[in-house]
Amino acid sequence: MRAAVLTKRGAARARSGHPWIYRSDITDATGDVGDVVRVMDRAGRFLGHAFYNPKSEITLRIVTREDEPIDAAFFRARMQKARDYRASLDIDASAYRMVHAEADGIPGLVIDCYGEYFVLQVGSAAVEERLSWIIATLEDLFAPTGILLRGDSPSRKREGLVAKTEVLSGEVPESVVVHEGPARYNAGLRAGQKTGSFLDQRENHLAAARYIGEAKGGAGRVLDVFSYAGGFTLHAARVAETVEAVDSSGDALERARANVELNKLSNVTFTRASAFDLLRERSDAGETYDAVILDPPAFAKTKRDLRGAARAYKEINLRAMKLLNPDGILVSCSCSYHFSRELMQETLRSAASDAGRVIRVREWRDQALDHPQVLTIPETSYLKCAVLECL
Ligand code: SAH
Repeated sequence: MRAAVLTKRGAARARSGHPWIYRSDITDATGDVGDVVRVMDRAGRFLGHAFYNPKSEITLRIVTREDEPIDAAFFRARMQKARDYRASLDIDASAYRMVHAEADGIPGLVIDCYGEYFVLQVGSAAVEERLSWIIATLEDLFAPTGILLRGDSPSRKREGLVAKTEVLSGEVPESVVVHEGPARYNAGLRAGQKTGSFLDQRENHLAAARYIGEAKGGAGRVLDVFSYAGGFTLHAARVAETVEAVDSSGDALERARANVELNKLSNVTFTRASAFDLLRERSDAGETYDAVILDPPAFAKTKRDLRGAARAYKEINLRAMKLLNPDGILVSCSCSYHFSRELMQETLRSAASDAGRVIRVREWRDQALDHPQVLTIPETSYLKCAVLECL
């Protein structure tokens, strides 16, 4: 029988509701890479069924705590549930996350919807082996034009899966035009970042434009730092006089420029620069803005990076605060799971204090609701978005 026996600590973790069991918490296991195994404590008590991968540090991913078969019908039921939840959200966008891995009960599987297309990220060998069930269910439930596997995420390496991007069904173009509220954008499905876009920021893009548009000081000059393809820019430009999109990547700015044209906006400029240099230069030059948006990549990818990350977050936020006009808005994001909300709050406090500005919190936001969070799986909550106002 394919089975795994957990140490006392492993069993306690499984019972706490966390699906990940590390190699060091397993006393005994039989099975191959990608198998579904029966998980038990040392007394032989049933704890659940899990995806097994002895090559991965996270050797078991518990997929159910019920004694039920993990077959095609199981996957289909979980996917239907994920679909029904998205339908209940009334999402005003044609691109959103349909399945958010562990938070939708399918460890290691991300499914993003871009109009008629689905883009999958698979970070579990067990899921990879059962892809045909997932494809069949997607075809049956949604009749998509195409399904793409974006197999270039770092999680694949940790699972011992080879990097590959391939069409699993139908046809998939290089990019596709989708809408997000009133904005339209081109998502690079095959070569863009993530699966084509930062879908987890969808609601924050809209919220930021709302705050900027209603700012007491007016929505004159906006600086969107770490713009990528214009996620915030496209929305901010609808309410502001001018927006300057800043990114260190030429490819990102090319995408942003094309999206700005697609939306027939004529008040956006693009600057290729390192955010750190640009923010310092602008604040040294005494420039001012009515709103600044900061959406950096994860500075803390591991716990070990935390000290350096805190310094980097403080630096950009301190500069941004100095750049704000009275009543100006700062939208400050962090997508580092390890950089907790508390730590971010402390960092922002310290930045405000050094900047000598009185900064009021308008709202603490997090990831869009189609990226659900499970309380017993803290890793499912990672994105933070502080909307701040300079008094
Ligand atoms: N704001 C975007 C997502 C940003 S992703 C949205 O809402 O869709 C982070 C971006 O930061 C990437 O495009 C990356 O090219 C850029 N970046 C990374 N390091 C940078 C740096 N030091 N200076 C400027 N941009 C940087």
